[in-house]
Amino acid sequence: MINITFPDGSVRPFEEGVTGYEIAKSISPRLAAEVLAIEVKDAADTTADKGTVIDLTRPITADSSIRLLKFEDEEGKKVFWHSSSHLMAEALESLYPGVKFGIGPAIENGFYYDVDLAGQPFSDADLAKVEKKMLELAKEKQEFKRISVSKQDALEYFTKKGDPYKCELINELEDGTITYYENGQFTDLCRGPHLPNTELIKAVKLTAIAGAYWRGDENRQQLTRIYGITFPKKSMLDEYLVLLEEAKKRDHRKLGKEMELFTFSPKVGLGLPLWLPRGAVMRYQLENFLRKKLNESGYLPVVTPHIGSKQLYVTSGHYAKYGKDSFQPIHTPQEGEEYMLKPMNCPHHCEIYRSAPRSYRDLPLRLAEFGTVYRYEQSGELHGLTRVRSFTQDDAHMFVRPEQLKDEFKKVIDLIMYVFSVFKFDNFTAQISLRDKVNREKYIGSEENWEKAESAIIESAAEKGLKTVIEYGEAAFYGPKLDFMVKDAIGRKWQLGTIQVDYNLPERFQLEYTDADGSKKRPIMIHRAPFGSIERFTAVLLEHTAGHFPLWLAPDQVKVLPVSEKYADYAKKVCDLLNNSEIRASMDDRNETLGKRIREISLLRVPLLVIVGEQEQAQGTLSIRKDGVNQGSKTVEEFVDWFKETVKAELS
Ligand SMILES: [Zn+2]
Ligand SMILES: [Zn+2]
Repeated sequence: MINITFPDGSVRPFEEGVTGYEIAKSISPRLAAEVLAIEVKDAADTTADKGTVIDLTRPITADSSIRLLKFEDEEGKKVFWHSSSHLMAEALESLYPGVKFGIGPAIENGFYYDVDLAGQPFSDADLAKVEKKMLELAKEKQEFKRISVSKQDALEYFTKKGDPYKCELINELEDGTITYYENGQFTDLCRGPHLPNTELIKAVKLTAIAGAYWRGDENRQQLTRIYGITFPKKSMLDEYLVLLEEAKKRDHRKLGKEMELFTFSPKVGLGLPLWLPRGAVMRYQLENFLRKKLNESGYLPVVTPHIGSKQLYVTSGHYAKYGKDSFQPIHTPQEGEEYMLKPMNCPHHCEIYRSAPRSYRDLPLRLAEFGTVYRYEQSGELHGLTRVRSFTQDDAHMFVRPEQLKDEFKKVIDLIMYVFSVFKFDNFTAQISLRDKVNREKYIGSEENWEKAESAIIESAAEKGLKTVIEYGEAAFYGPKLDFMVKDAIGRKWQLGTIQVDYNLPERFQLEYTDADGSKKRPIMIHRAPFGSIERFTAVLLEHTAGHFPLWLAPDQVKVLPVSEKYADYAKKVCDLLNNSEIRASMDDRNETLGKRIREISLLRVPLLVIVGEQEQAQGTLSIRKDGVNQGSKTVEEFVDWFKETVKAELS
C-alpha cells in the first residue's frame, strides 16, 4: 500500500500502482468524469516546489501528494488544450494527406500547431471543415495512449512517414526518454501529459492562421500556424466568443485612437508612444491623483535625468544583468565617456540618498518620481501601451531601518488598495514571488537577508488580509516581491502594482545611516509602483472601463453643445463659467446637426454633454446628458455643485 496525501492535508492508503482515475473514482463518479490529469509529488522528493502533471492512466508507485486537475485549474486547461492540438493534427491528417507537423503546444488561451501542408492551399475558409472533423473524431472517444519507443524506432517511423520536423526533434532527444502518444489513427512524438480520451472535448473553435518559421528561425521553412481553442462544454465556448467580441471592442489601441489619447509613429520609433493633448491631460490627472496621496503619506518628490553614466549601472548591477540586451551606451565627443538611457530610476535615487549624511531619525526616507525609463523590448513583443520601449513609472524608493520594514510595507499595501478601490478593481489577488527553492546561485545578497525580506512580505500580506498565492522562483534577482493581479470588468487578468524589498542596492551603493548609538548601519530599500507604469495602467484602465473613465479623470469632462448657431453665445458663456470652476469643458458649435455632433463626441467618450437651446437660454439653465442618459436640467450653479460632489465621491 502507498499513502496518498490530498490538498486538504488528509491522507488515504491506496494499492501501489493506483492511477489518478481510480483515485478520483474512489471519491465520486462525478469527479472521475470531470478530472483531466493529476499532479503527483513524490513524498521522498524534498527539493521540488511542485509535483509533475501526469496522465490519469499512469500508475503511482510511491507515497505522494496529489492534486486532481480539472478544467478550472491552469494545469488542467493546459492538458486539455495540448490534447486538442493532437486532435486537430489528427483531423488535418485525415483531410490533408501528407501534412507534416512541427510543434503543437498549449498557450494562454487555447493551442496551436505549426504544420507544413506540403503545398496544399489552406485559408480561413477551411477552418470550419477542420473543426467539424475534430468534433467527429472527438465523439469516437479515442483514448490517448502513451507508448515508450527507442530512438531508432522513432526515427524509422517518422522517416517512413516523411516528417523531417519530427525526425529533427527526435535527433535531439536521448534514447530511453522518448514517448509517443496515439489517439485514433494519429501518432505523435510527445512527452505528454494528455486527457484520458477525446470525448471530453465538446466544443471547438479554430481562431486564426498565421505564418511561423520552423523553430522561430527566419532562414528555415515557413510553416502554417493554426490557432484554436476548445472547451469541455458548448456553453463555455459561447461565453468565450462573447468575451472575445467584447475584448475586441475594448482593445485599448482602438480606444486610444477613437478617444485621441495616444499614437505611434514609425519615424519616431517602434514602441515609443506619443501622447496626444487629450491623452496628456488624462495622464496629468493620473499623476496629480497619486501626487496628492503621496504628499499626504510623507513621500518627497525628486526629479532625475533620463540618462546616467554607464558606471552608475555597473555599480547597480543592471549593466551586468541587462546591458547586452538593452539600448547600448551613448558615446560623447569625450573619448571613453559612456552614458546609458535610464532603464530604472533606483540607481539615481540611491545617489540622492548618498547626497547627505543620514541619521536614524531621517528614516524612512521616501523618494518619489514619475520617472521615464527605456527598455529595449523585442519588436515582436511590442503591443500598444502594454509593451513599450519608453514608459513612465510611478516610482518611489523607501529607505528604511530594519525594524521599519514591515510597517512600511503595510503602508504601501494600503496605498495600493486605495488606488484599486478608486478605479474599481474589486477583484484582485496578490502574488508573493520568492526565490527558487533549489537554484539559488542566480540571486544576489545573503541568505539571511533574503529570509528576512521574504518573511516581511509574507507577514505584511497576511496581516492586511490579502488573498495571496506564493510562487517560488519568481523573485527578481535582487529581492522578493509582491505583485498585484487584478481582474478587469470582463474577467481578464492583468498584472498591476508591485512592491519589492531590496537588500542589494544599499549594499552596492554603500548606503548608510547613523544609528542612535552612533554606529553606521545599512538601510533597506523598498521599490514600489502602484500603477506599474502610466502607459500600462492607461491601457488596462481603457480595457477595464471600455473608455468610460470616471469623471475626475476624463480629459474632456463636459462638452457644451448649442442646438444651433443662435445659441452659441450662451453656450460660450456657460463654457467659460464651467472653466472658471475648474471643470474641463469645451464647446462644439460646429455647423452640423446636433445628432451628428453627439455621435462624433460619443467616440471621445466625453462623460457629460450639456445641451443649450432657446428654453435653456431663456431660463439660464442647462440640459444634461451623462453617458448617453438624460439627466434633466439644472442651473449652472446647481450643475457645478453636483459635479463637485460627484468627483468627490469618486475619489473617496
Ligand atoms: Zn502531446
Ligand atoms: Zn526601483
